[in-house]
Amino acid sequence: MNLSINHADIQAAAARLAGVAHRTPVATSHTANERTGARLFFKCENLQRMGAFKFRGAYNALSQFTPEQRRAGVVAFSSGNHAQAVALSSRLLGIPATILMPTDAPQMKIDATQGYGAEVQLFDRYKEDREAIGRKLADERGMTLIPPFDHPHVMAGQGTAALELIDEIGTLDVLLVCVGGGGLISGCAVAAKHALPQCRVIGVEPEAGNDVQQSLRRGEVVHIDVPRTIADGAQTQAPGRFTFPVIQALVDDVLTVTDQQLVSTMRFFAERMKMVVEPTGCLAAAAALEGVLDVREKKVGVILSGGNIDVTRYAALLGGS
Ligand SMILES: *Cc1c(COP(=O)(O)O)cnc(C)c1O
Repeated sequence: MNLSINHADIQAAAARLAGVAHRTPVATSHTANERTGARLFFKCENLQRMGAFKFRGAYNALSQFTPEQRRAGVVAFSSGNHAQAVALSSRLLGIPATILMPTDAPQMKIDATQGYGAEVQLFDRYKEDREAIGRKLADERGMTLIPPFDHPHVMAGQGTAALELIDEIGTLDVLLVCVGGGGLISGCAVAAKHALPQCRVIGVEPEAGNDVQQSLRRGEVVHIDVPRTIADGAQTQAPGRFTFPVIQALVDDVLTVTDQQLVSTMRFFAERMKMVVEPTGCLAAAAALEGVLDVREKKVGVILSGGNIDVTRYAALLGGS
């Protein structure tokens, strides 16, 4: 089948990211291994530049702009990690960036995005259509719109996280990956299945936001309402037209975890591994640590996708149980 990305695209992305993205550490924990009966290897994208793997995809996409695209600039809409990823990448590459953010986005995120030198344009998420505003900017100013997951260059960039993990750890029986719109898992699945055809690639979504699980089981894209979950990076309503075919071809299954299980997992990383992992970043780990997937006797790669969370909210979530 002809998928939108292949292994060579991920290797090319790795070459573009060399010396720019962090080669993040792989962490292990005796407690985690004892609890699950497995050997778990955590790829710490919470320690990536700007705090999440999204830097990989954004930088890979922006670094392939033509000279005209670079001059006209990039536009992105996001209230989360993609905004900061595009803002940082554009600063590093000298490309002007406009980020559309909802008026009710956390001030910390607006400040961080402006701090990277991007222009933030606010819109009312209840009255205005961000895609229409983005497309208008793209048409009027010739700017290039870079979406958070549904773009082959973004997907290929995200796949470099799994490429590095396999390069460092060698064989894996299972690779667990957080799933929002499926950019991360589609890139990681291409990297993993190329190097390790027998490795099972398993996605993990919030229980309330299982659009990809439903789509995979139904064999077609399923749209859901905006899900209510603390995993704010996975509040997507449907997989993308580029990501879904890759997921259908290469992902073995998609499981779900509850918000409660995400909180226990955040607590585990804080107490046992001294790491701040945001709720969405805990999805994949929660499937193993909370016993949703039986991983006994297995060698398991787990992507910790990000660590950006407001400390007040972090404290409230951990203090609340
Ligand atoms: C965006 C994001 C995800 C989901 O990634 P997709 O490519 O949309 O599946 C997971 N975790 C974090 C921390 C994110 O920022």
